[in-house]
Amino acid sequence: MFIVGAGPAGLACAGELASEFKVGVAEEHHELGNISCTGVLGIKSLERLGIDYKSSVLSYIRSARLHSNAENIEFSFSKPVAVVVDRAAFDGGLGENALDEGAEILTSTRVVKVERKGKRWSIKLLREGKIEEVEAKVLIGADGFRSEIALSQGLREKWKPDQILSCYQLEVNCSAELTDVYFTHYARNFFAWQVPAGERCRVGLCSRGATLSPKSALKKFVSENGIESEILAETGDVIPLGIINKTYAENLLIVGEAAGFIKPITGGGVIFGITSGKLAAEVLKDASDFSEGSLSRYEKLWKKNIGREINFGLHFSKLFYSLTREELDRIFRTLDKEAVEEIKKNFSFDRHSFLLKVVLRHGYRIFRALGTRRSAELLGELRKI
Ligand SMILES: Cc1cc2nc3c(=O)[nH]c(=O)nc-3n(C[C@H](O)[C@H](O)[C@H](O)COP(=O)(O)OP(=O)(O)OC[C@H]3O[C@@H](n4cnc5c(N)ncnc54)[C@H](O)[C@@H]3O)c2cc1C
Repeated sequence: MFIVGAGPAGLACAGELASEFKVGVAEEHHELGNISCTGVLGIKSLERLGIDYKSSVLSYIRSARLHSNAENIEFSFSKPVAVVVDRAAFDGGLGENALDEGAEILTSTRVVKVERKGKRWSIKLLREGKIEEVEAKVLIGADGFRSEIALSQGLREKWKPDQILSCYQLEVNCSAELTDVYFTHYARNFFAWQVPAGERCRVGLCSRGATLSPKSALKKFVSENGIESEILAETGDVIPLGIINKTYAENLLIVGEAAGFIKPITGGGVIFGITSGKLAAEVLKDASDFSEGSLSRYEKLWKKNIGREINFGLHFSKLFYSLTREELDRIFRTLDKEAVEEIKKNFSFDRHSFLLKVVLRHGYRIFRALGTRRSAELLGELRKI
């Protein structure tokens, strides 16, 4: 088995597969860990997935303040609901586990070409300036947003501009304890954030369809909001919004962000990436052969497990960002204690469809400031999801 990409999806898949198969993983970077990532991960999901994450934790998140243009609402939980991790340490832990199970991880190794050779794959690697060839029975594309594997094998088209979240993040000195989420015009169709990460904070912004680059938008946003501080690191990256056409073919599976497995409401991809990596391994371990028919089970499994959540998130975000700044202010201003309590009671960090339940049940109160006609329109759209 050969896995292209040593992010959480590829490493989780390798860890599960290596007990039964010979597994190779290629990673073009020298070290593991996506440095652009904020690293906010839901504790319940990490525990359900059996991930050993504690040594990579920088901060625990128990409360968050959401800001509209002129208002804000705070949500506090009695126990932490999420952690902020150091991605190098977190991915390193997944890598250690895969190595312990017997996988081989080749860092500084770029997969430059894959070709079918009868029932097998021929994989060309660029390593220390030289091309090497390896063969494998099954290829797994865990190669993230730019997935050349899915593209070259006709499983996806190029991401369209409205499917791309463009992001920028600063790491700054600060001692905040609260997570802040800002629905600001600087983060068009998405949001900006400040998250505690140990002695530092991660301040970032993603936007979709904006004219201003996320870097310029973020720098204006921090200076206008007085959250400027000494910048210790800065990075930009993109996140896809939308699932690819097909995630399997004969001897081939696509996992993680390469398949579009992202929570559309927050842009988080680590938990769904690990989930899909593990599901892919389960299917490969159970399969009697690696034909397209046998591997189609993977698509059934992820659709049941995370597919509905992703589709819900895509529809919900579209509706949420159709609210004007004034409408969001009005909702925030009139949201009563009871509605906040309902959101807290049903809250799930990774399974956002809980929002549908809450909004459908309490929509008349949540939207009351928008007037009867607009409330009915929004609730009508929500019922279609
Ligand atoms: C600003 C920002 C903030 C984010 N914050 C969060 C967050 O708080 N929580 C969260 O859950 N998610 C977050 N994400 C998303 C998260 O980082 C990704 O969804 C997640 O890393 C996807 O995991 P993956 O394993 O699918 O892909 P990746 O982590 O992208 O791994 C793919 C790997 O494949 C390698 N690769 C690609 N092509 C090749 C090749 N040809 N040869 C060899 N190697 C190759 C890449 O180098 C990469 O290491 C954030 C993203 C951004 C941009």
